[in-house]
Amino acid sequence: MSQTGADHATLACRACTTQNPSAARFCSACGGSLTGKSGGRGFAAAPNESVASFALVSTVMPYASARSTRTYKLAFLIGVAIPILAVLFGQPSFALVTAAFVVPVVFIVYLYDVNLWEDQPVAVVLATVVLSAILAVASTLLLRAWLAGQPGSLIETTSGAFNVWAFLIPCVVAPIVGVILMLIGPTVLASRPQFDDLMDGLTFGVVAGVTYAAAETLTTNWAVITSPVDGSDALTTWLPVIINAAFLKPIVFGCAIGIAAAEFSGLGEGYDGFTGRFVGRVIEAMVLLALFQGGLYFTGLLGGSTGLVLGLVWALLLAGMAILRLRSVLQRALLEGALEAAARAGSSKWSSGEEDFCAECEMPLPVDALFCVSCGASVRARSKDVRRAAAHSEHRATEGGSA
Ligand SMILES: [Zn+2]
Ligand SMILES: [Zn+2]
Repeated sequence: MSQTGADHATLACRACTTQNPSAARFCSACGGSLTGKSGGRGFAAAPNESVASFALVSTVMPYASARSTRTYKLAFLIGVAIPILAVLFGQPSFALVTAAFVVPVVFIVYLYDVNLWEDQPVAVVLATVVLSAILAVASTLLLRAWLAGQPGSLIETTSGAFNVWAFLIPCVVAPIVGVILMLIGPTVLASRPQFDDLMDGLTFGVVAGVTYAAAETLTTNWAVITSPVDGSDALTTWLPVIINAAFLKPIVFGCAIGIAAAEFSGLGEGYDGFTGRFVGRVIEAMVLLALFQGGLYFTGLLGGSTGLVLGLVWALLLAGMAILRLRSVLQRALLEGALEAAARAGSSKWSSGEEDFCAECEMPLPVDALFCVSCGASVRARSKDVRRAAAHSEHRATEGGSA
């Protein structure tokens, strides 16, 4: 280990010249690795994971600490197991309803857990969830009515001949309209000063996306849910549909909207708003959703279980891509945001206080750190509860000192 320029045994970061404690493995200001290994940098929101990983929870729930991440993983596993078991027991209607609710419910628990709404009334955030669901139901019903009016469109069948309208409306129009509708709630919230952080924008985007996906699933499959269905062909017909509805579709929708909403918030303090980069991310989200729906439409044309399984593989592929994309956006945002703050050389509103601890590895943090010097976790990716608890103890400490 290099000891160059070490007065009082500090370690200067080569990227941003910040002085760090000599035992530091990561720079407290920019999060760069100090041990000399260039590959030593893990995912900033969960440093024990690599950036190129399909770890869902730390990607869509970056505020979760290492301990609560395990709880959410378990919640998702149980949540997905219920509809799958329901299908295997020949209850596709029940399975569809539970499948639609798995991801949104776990997400709302997470929002409550990390106390994202702070001192805001819970109603503000829940209103975004409800708004997203209402918009999904309304747009789906309108688009279906439009589709039903087109000659020769096979609205209820998934297999059969190619029809221009049956392709255009769900696979081109619906993604474009959907992305715009899904972004209404997150952009309104992200332009409020309490929620203008990139992490908040991302979180609201994911919430709006998963809620919209769930409401769309319920609306599209309403006929199946309300009338008794033959569940005897459960494995071949319903299992791929349920796995898609419960897990893959909300992941694709949530990540796509999360990426766009994060861009709306931007890196620094305050929100960036309607920039060219934001428009780019919006188009990216529309393309992702169009690819998702289009792939399901064309594999559906093949018909039978072959089509369903191919559709599932396609959805799995896109969900994996969406997770990787959101992770790289988050990683870059946390590291670039820190470099910007280091360049300004003041303490940012996310940096640690006195006697503060890392939420991931529970080691003490240097004052005004943006990263844990032991594990490299981003201090910005701590829940507001943890942040506020730290601020309180700091407040008490200074009060005690002056008394
Ligand atoms: Zn540095
Ligand atoms: Zn740590």
